[in-house]
Amino acid sequence: MISIGEDVFVTENLNGASNAGVVIGKKGIIVVDSTFFPSKAIRLMDFISSISSKIILYVVNTHYHLDHTLGNCAIEAPVISSEMTKDYLERIDFEKFRSSLEPIIQKELKDARIVFPSITFNRKMTVDLGNKKIEILRVGGHTPDSSIIKVWPNGICFCGDLLFSGYHAEITSESDIDSWIKILGKLKNENLKWFVPGHGSIGSVKEVDEMMIYLEKFKSLSFMIKSNKIDDVIEKFGDDPVFAKRGFPLLFEDSLIEYLRRDDVGKNAGPYKARRR
Ligand SMILES: [Zn+2]
Repeated sequence: MISIGEDVFVTENLNGASNAGVVIGKKGIIVVDSTFFPSKAIRLMDFISSISSKIILYVVNTHYHLDHTLGNCAIEAPVISSEMTKDYLERIDFEKFRSSLEPIIQKELKDARIVFPSITFNRKMTVDLGNKKIEILRVGGHTPDSSIIKVWPNGICFCGDLLFSGYHAEITSESDIDSWIKILGKLKNENLKWFVPGHGSIGSVKEVDEMMIYLEKFKSLSFMIKSNKIDDVIEKFGDDPVFAKRGFPLLFEDSLIEYLRRDDVGKNAGPYKARRR
């Protein structure tokens, strides 16, 4: 775990797995996202009990994707999310999802289950930790239910999957790139010091800028693909520094394919696709 100022910690996942955060306030502790593997969430609990005897008040989920929410089942605290996140989680056929995974991961997840949020909000919710104020806002962008969590007075924003640093972004048919860029542009001007990405290492305004440029470029590529073959486009742009310096190049291709399917949104069986991490 990395400390980012007074009693706020973030996991350091060097392999691109999703991040989780811990905010310790006077009245108790808030955990932001619970990662994919319950075993990892248990390690997070061990870390918390090693540094504080306060109780965990809530887990807050930034969005429904299971790499951010499946660990909920290992944490004994009520889960907060937007109503939309709860709704999306309820639509996942977990047994079907689990059986689509590699046997070794199925085994690892044999006791896992989706734990649904019990406290929900529509657009906004605040939690008072005594000496810290937590602002949770559903903003959309990466997915319609994507929420961000701001910690004041620290000036820290947990961005969920609105920010990827060092890795390719996961853009899906549910993503709204225009509003995604707009939200990041607004966040840049809010006196925030640290931006915690959903994946990758902690960033500042620089990483937010880079993400905005990435998204702009990604959008223009997706328009090009309508007239070119995807392989040709990837070959042409694979070396562009905006894309080349990020990890998980396969995710870039997947995102382009997924994003081009967005016209089919609502025609598919559900909002969920098998996730690989
Ligand atoms: Zn996500």
